[in-house]
Amino acid sequence: MGRQSGGFSPETARKDFPILQRLVNGHPLVWLDNAATTQKPRQVIEALAAYYSATNSNIHRGAHTLAREATEAYEAGRAAVAEFLGAASPENIVFVRGTTEAINLVAQSWGRANLGPGDDILVPVLEHHSDIVPWQLIAKETRARVVPVPLGPDGQIDRTAYADLLSSRTQLVAISHASNVLGTVPPVREMTALAHRYGAKVLVDGAQAVAHFPVDVQEMDADFYVFSGHKIFAPTGIGVLYGKPEVLESMPPWQGGGNMIDSVSFAHTTYAPVPQRLEAGTGHISGVVGLLAALNWLTSFDRGAVAAYEQGLMSYAQQALSMVPGLETVGAAPDRIAVLTFTLAGQDPATVADWLDRDGIAIRAGHHCAQPALAHYGLETAARASLALYNTSEEVDQLVASLRRLTDSAPS
Ligand code: PLP
Repeated sequence: MGRQSGGFSPETARKDFPILQRLVNGHPLVWLDNAATTQKPRQVIEALAAYYSATNSNIHRGAHTLAREATEAYEAGRAAVAEFLGAASPENIVFVRGTTEAINLVAQSWGRANLGPGDDILVPVLEHHSDIVPWQLIAKETRARVVPVPLGPDGQIDRTAYADLLSSRTQLVAISHASNVLGTVPPVREMTALAHRYGAKVLVDGAQAVAHFPVDVQEMDADFYVFSGHKIFAPTGIGVLYGKPEVLESMPPWQGGGNMIDSVSFAHTTYAPVPQRLEAGTGHISGVVGLLAALNWLTSFDRGAVAAYEQGLMSYAQQALSMVPGLETVGAAPDRIAVLTFTLAGQDPATVADWLDRDGIAIRAGHHCAQPALAHYGLETAARASLALYNTSEEVDQLVASLRRLTDSAPS
């Protein structure tokens, strides 16, 4: 049995995941690589099968029943995402491939139209590479600057430094709602309010947040909010860009093609209103169907109880890991998600991951696409266990027992 919290029991969630029944190297799978991607509940798998079995069609064109049904499903997905994020309207939601594409879209469309020489883009050091490199690319082109916002020793964003770095030159602040390597949950509402005082826009990367706690983009006042479906129990290849209506409306197309136009001629082409203007070509229709099923599945739980359960499991895991000789955790911000990055004395993180895999335990080792965040701790690589609502204290115990066997077997 897992630890229970309020109205949530992980066993209720677990039974929906066929993959959690499989054996890996002769052991039941222990999936602790949720920050990389989450597993999919049968409701999502069945929704995909049903879509392809009964509905498959292209959307927004074609006057036939299946086209209408597929369009309805796609637009129902858009409405569900808007509700999930607390957006004012489905028209504030643009479908993309994932977080990375959403950030590149903003950089290439909004960035190219709004950035110029001498402008600053503030990016905290804990960001994922996908919230650093797109800004570097557009900064190079527009001769703007990407300015890193430093971290404190525990992995929190240095708020004094942030306040000092903001200026009338700041056009954009790009912050993660939760760090994929340190677990840090920054105070995005306060940081956004401060950025707005200087007239800067704020993009919040919710890739690691949306599966763990409720999000309200209007309350946070974010100008952009982005996430990937595959990190919230939905398929790969589908993601979301939320934008404030007036900001999205001001954005020029970033890709051209079908779906994004109003009319085309060699003399003059006009574009569709947003969100279609930013969705060139055939979208990932089944991905949206899967995302809708995933959001319905997740929101069928009491999300406050889920968040409390995950926080309890994280405390349990932190305590248990602290008993492993030579283990040091990386990042200790007080507000955090259940991402446990660690090093083990005398062990290469890749060896640790390989050892755990032999026991059926999946964790990640490497730079976690956040090299500046690891460099802040003088590290190039680390091991990372990341938890989700279907993980249990028994699985944490298995992780710790396997790590102890590794340290016991190491020559002293
Ligand atoms: N941002 C954060 C915080 C992430 O953790 C990740 C993926 O790990 C990404 C962005 C990139 O997500 P994707 O590869 O789904 O585009």
